[in-house]
Amino acid sequence: MVLVLVDHDHGQLDELSLQAVTYGRELAASTGEPLDALVVGADGRSVAGALGEHGVTTVHVAVHEGLTDYAPLAWARAASEVATRTGASVVLATGSPRGNEVLAHLGALTDLPVAADCVEVTPGSPTKVVRARWGGSLMEEANLHGSPALVSLVPHTIVADPGGSASGDVAEFTPTFSDADLLVIAKPAAAAEESSGVSLADAKVIISGGRGVGSAEGFAPLEELAELLGGTIGCSRVVTGNGWRPHTEQVGQTGTKVAPDLYIACGISGATQHIAGCRNAKTMIVINTDPEAAIMGYADYAIIGDIGKVLPAIIEETRKAKAG
Ligand SMILES: Cc1cc2nc3c(=O)[nH]c(=O)nc-3n(C[C@H](O)[C@H](O)[C@H](O)COP(=O)(O)OP(=O)(O)OC[C@H]3O[C@@H](n4cnc5c(N)ncnc54)[C@H](O)[C@@H]3O)c2cc1C
Repeated sequence: MVLVLVDHDHGQLDELSLQAVTYGRELAASTGEPLDALVVGADGRSVAGALGEHGVTTVHVAVHEGLTDYAPLAWARAASEVATRTGASVVLATGSPRGNEVLAHLGALTDLPVAADCVEVTPGSPTKVVRARWGGSLMEEANLHGSPALVSLVPHTIVADPGGSASGDVAEFTPTFSDADLLVIAKPAAAAEESSGVSLADAKVIISGGRGVGSAEGFAPLEELAELLGGTIGCSRVVTGNGWRPHTEQVGQTGTKVAPDLYIACGISGATQHIAGCRNAKTMIVINTDPEAAIMGYADYAIIGDIGKVLPAIIEETRKAKAG
């Protein structure tokens, strides 16, 4: 059985988890095994139907009063319990910070190796994986000995696709863990609670700014364009390091990995650590004064120029186009 660790926000399924479910379904089909999912929290019952549409046969819902917030070690205990009970051959998580963290705890609990950030998994003995290292600039082939194989999938390796109909039966259980497993509990940050609209990871349009934007105030035209195009703001690490924008908006190896339809990179040079987060954009428009900037190599369209002049022109033309 292939077991996928599924994350959700009060019953709203996480897009990256659905990608892992789609990948898990393909793995399960290749070995003729069923596909199961683990969801933590009582809200998990409400996502069982949707997971059934994605091909999940049984949704294991871990319900416990200590599991209302994210508690990585307790979540890993729940995963360990289900993996052992069901004899899972592969445990798949999304390669998000949360997915990788739970998987790392699961590896420590079970004494099994973990392969994080994989783009390819071939089940067997050993399970073979291809992992993205150094922000995707190196692809490493590795063998995982032991069962189950603990693997996380690089976000946006695959497009989430319902394409499967299974029963999505709910198997509720109360996981066993001690108080020590609840020593680390992550409460939602106030900013995250208050934030509205589309998340960076799911955004279809991202207007992203780098050092070339110059200041926190310099993001005003980027915000204006984002609003016009129904998008959201992203940025480079220089920007978060300077305190111009919050870390939640950082794109890259140590930020969020995104795959929008349109990524407009404004004053960003294209360091590998930044590209690691946006290389899956369907269309990339680059605005930069330097025609030799590394990011030009990833641009579908490049505008060589000062964002102080280029952005107002784009905003004006966008307004005209929207007006009819
Ligand atoms: C372990 C590690 C992890 C990292 N993780 C990340 C990460 O997750 N995300 C990330 O982004 N970085 C990350 N970094 C940092 C990364 O290496 C780069 O330093 C960073 O991405 C550079 O940011 P930048 O492109 O905004 O700045 P710069 O490299 O300084 O580039 C600024 C660009 O703006 C252009 N420019 C300047 N003025 C204008 C103007 N008026 N109009 C148009 N263009 C202009 C310049 O030509 C230049 O190309 C990481 C680094 C390390 C070591």
